[in-house]
Amino acid sequence: MIRFDAVSKNYPNGTTAVDELSLELAEGGITVLVGPSGCGKTTTLRMVNRMVEPTAGTVSLRGQDIREIAAPELRRGIGYVIQHAGLFPHRTVLDNIATVPLLLGWGKKKARSRAAELLELVGLPSSMAKRYPYQLSGGQQQRVGVARALGADPPVLLMDEPFSAVDPIVRGELQAEFIRLQKELHKTIVFVTHDIDEAIKLGDNIAVFRTGGKLAQFDTPERLLAHPADDFVADFVGQDRGIRRLSFVKAADLPLREGLVLPADSPVARARAAGEPWVLVVDGDRRPLGWAAVADLPTGGTLADAALTPLGHTFSLAGDSARAALDAALLSPSRLAVGVDPQGAVVGVADAYELSAAMTGDGTAVEVAAEVAAEAAAEDSVSKVSVAKGETDGGSGGDADGTGDSGGSGAGGDGR
Ligand code: ADP
Repeated sequence: MIRFDAVSKNYPNGTTAVDELSLELAEGGITVLVGPSGCGKTTTLRMVNRMVEPTAGTVSLRGQDIREIAAPELRRGIGYVIQHAGLFPHRTVLDNIATVPLLLGWGKKKARSRAAELLELVGLPSSMAKRYPYQLSGGQQQRVGVARALGADPPVLLMDEPFSAVDPIVRGELQAEFIRLQKELHKTIVFVTHDIDEAIKLGDNIAVFRTGGKLAQFDTPERLLAHPADDFVADFVGQDRGIRRLSFVKAADLPLREGLVLPADSPVARARAAGEPWVLVVDGDRRPLGWAAVADLPTGGTLADAALTPLGHTFSLAGDSARAALDAALLSPSRLAVGVDPQGAVVGVADAYELSAAMTGDGTAVEVAAEVAAEAAAEDSVSKVSVAKGETDGGSGGDADGTGDSGGSGAGGDGR
């Protein structure tokens, strides 16, 4: 839908902001541009609505070279959201949101009723309509910024570090809200961030840039974690990419053992026969009651007589990811994760190694197992984890500095 063909942007001072970028962004999806500060993300974004013109190459929208479309007309179909929301301080929330419809000549009444609709859509109460931006929190301002960008219902949305200026908790809420909103709206979104976690959370596809405006990899989050193209990308996505990749594996696909799950009326001898240090005791509806340590069991009787260790948390086979299962295993007193069905009945248990082995057989399982071992060691707080492998890479600068962009918002305001 949005296509870059060998696009470069060179500045007169000799800076190459973007270097021969070729990229095709899918319609109705979120493409995240991510990379360290100064690698050309914002420049790339701004070439989509002609706030920046390429030095070479072509940007096209639905097959049409955007140079053939007058900038104001082009921007009518492209919403734009920036860090700090960029709201007009002297206008009320409602009037801020109504900006674009008013510019398009909708008439005050229709524009305001659209704005009221959008206010609700981004999860703000109507009582905020008459407030001024300074009377809102950072997160609320950012929601208004999103609502304003959606004013004329543009098919394309450009978002430049929209959630970077708010604290982590509010950022998490905004991200969740944004995912919900996109499920409803199906916009074609280009989203800039320096935060790889945000990219993985939000992106349908991710373009990783390296300094010098070069595209290092363009892939789905899952593939990026599983198969980073080179050391730079591997470093940028982080040493824990194996574990993070588990978020993309459904818990439903994990193999579980049933032999360690025993009803409370089972004889103690049956628990011993299982040959493992722990068994899970369940009630008549297979709801979990707790763990029985086999070494501490009485000599006879049933498991109903055993002292049980509390369960820890379970994971749901219906909705959770393998990462939740792994988490449950690491936090469990038995180091076993308990998988339950939607009714809360136990389906089976698995340990961290079995869970990691369930990863597709491309070597990632090995990495996951190594990470699991490290996490388990940390959990046990036994000595410091000796770094088994991959000593530091001399800090090759992959990690974003978190300072975000330095402003430089050449066009000012919201670019309309
Ligand atoms: P990012 O968004 O990844 O932080 P930018 O796209 O803002 O990076 O910038 C890419 C590079 O281009 C940086 O080195 C930046 O300093 C440079 N740059 C951006 N705008 C200009 C400009 N107007 N003149 C000269 N250099 C610029």
